[in-house]
Amino acid sequence: MSAHRYAIIGAGPSGLAAARALQKAGIAFDGYEASRGVGGLWDIDNPRSTMYESAHLISSRTTTEFAEFPMRTSADYPSHRELISYFREFADHFGLTERFRFDTKVTSLTRAEDGGWMLRAECSAPGSAPEAAGVVERRYDGVILANGTLAEPNVPTFRGEFAGELLHTSAYKSAAQLSGKRVLIIGAGNSGCDIAVDAVHHAASVDMSVRRGYYFVPRYLFGKPSDTLNQGRPLPARLKQFVDTRVLRAFTGDPVRFGFPRPDYKIYESHPIVNTLILNHLGQGDLRIVPDIDRFDGRTVHFRDGSSGEYDTVLLATGYKLDYPFVDRAELAWTGFAPRLFLNVFPPSFNGLSVMGMIEASGIGWQGRYEQAELIAAYLAALERHPDRAAAFRTRVANERWPDLTGGYRYLGLERMSYYVNKDAYRHAVRAATAMLMTDAAARGTRSVGRRRATAGRARA
Ligand SMILES: Cc1cc2nc3c(=O)[nH]c(=O)nc-3n(C[C@H](O)[C@H](O)[C@H](O)COP(=O)(O)OP(=O)(O)OC[C@H]3O[C@@H](n4cnc5c(N)ncnc54)[C@H](O)[C@@H]3O)c2cc1C
Repeated sequence: MSAHRYAIIGAGPSGLAAARALQKAGIAFDGYEASRGVGGLWDIDNPRSTMYESAHLISSRTTTEFAEFPMRTSADYPSHRELISYFREFADHFGLTERFRFDTKVTSLTRAEDGGWMLRAECSAPGSAPEAAGVVERRYDGVILANGTLAEPNVPTFRGEFAGELLHTSAYKSAAQLSGKRVLIIGAGNSGCDIAVDAVHHAASVDMSVRRGYYFVPRYLFGKPSDTLNQGRPLPARLKQFVDTRVLRAFTGDPVRFGFPRPDYKIYESHPIVNTLILNHLGQGDLRIVPDIDRFDGRTVHFRDGSSGEYDTVLLATGYKLDYPFVDRAELAWTGFAPRLFLNVFPPSFNGLSVMGMIEASGIGWQGRYEQAELIAAYLAALERHPDRAAAFRTRVANERWPDLTGGYRYLGLERMSYYVNKDAYRHAVRAATAMLMTDAAARGTRSVGRRRATAGRARA
């Protein structure tokens, strides 16, 4: 076991991946989890969970699960209940559960005088013994931040006041909340579309306000989960956009027919919506697409085209903001909407912090997150056992161009795309960096950490 000791914040899929990779590399760690158990947002009872009753995997099982621990279900898109069981089994199987301190929320990370980090956390275990409750303070050589990216609601401001119920998707748990209501959903991301499909069975009426057009990918194409097609040897971006636009048109038709604006960008330049039920319901007349919001006035919502509607509930499907509230933003090199991190993991200062799970990508799954964890473990192992390799790695990150993680796609310049990566480009770059840390290549300087300096998801305005 290593002489250095690290902390992991969060026992969601990313925190568990980090714990497993550190365990395999023989690196000592303690985990801290604010909730009662493992599984992160897949535990619908975790107070920070943004899961809802009807949720299932959006990416398919085989592209999502941890490679060394296949799920024990035949469902292609298992439900959140199966997923929380899976994460509990994963953590128990590898002896990770006991490595976390639950009901313990990290409240601050500050630099220790000797170059490590002081972690402060508050334990709030209901009914816990008095000695287990209270404040924890402990020094670590470094800290892995795996506190999730989909917990802090992004709430836009609107002109006027809405007199009905204003909810963010983070507060949506089940369709019963919408029973008998006239509902307006703002935004058509994956959660917005799932909730619209729930709502049509319970609400008095459902409208969905959208600003731009979307690409809708069916869960199945040619009888297989759509994200299992074209794996391994991805087509070049332009060719994939050309082919997939035509395949989608053949399978789902033109969403403009159902009232959506025509997308002003190409497929995969924004996150696609894996939901075609919404198109079925539009075709059945169960819901309507309405334009962007102009203003609220009591229960009336005015739209940009001059039309208006009366609503009881406005549901904001407006996404989430990155949030690392327990550490100074400068430590994570925040730039605009997101920290600017090498491979979305390491602050350029290599200050002992690393971030897990700060990736949004189509179909990167938990294996993609596990590969991030392997990279962190390789770096921490090199720090202790091959400091020359670790130093050479840092030098190269400082002096060479960072890999282009876009895969050749020109992502939209939106907040939610600010840490978006192309899964193939990303996984390739992460594996290459890990391999470099595990051999003397970094010290010899025979391989490059990347070809072009670019931040993840370099955006176009
Ligand atoms: C409806 C829905 C469907 C989704 N479907 C997919 C899918 O199909 N495929 C996919 O890959 N991803 C999907 N996701 C994305 C999802 O974010 C990831 O699957 C995964 O949960 C991310 O794991 P994580 O560990 O990074 O974050 P989380 O699961 O959010 O876990 C973070 C953990 O950190 C803890 N924590 C936070 N702050 C602190 C603190 N200060 N101190 C201690 N602990 C703290 C939280 O309690 C939580 O347990 C979906 C998300 C939603 C909401």
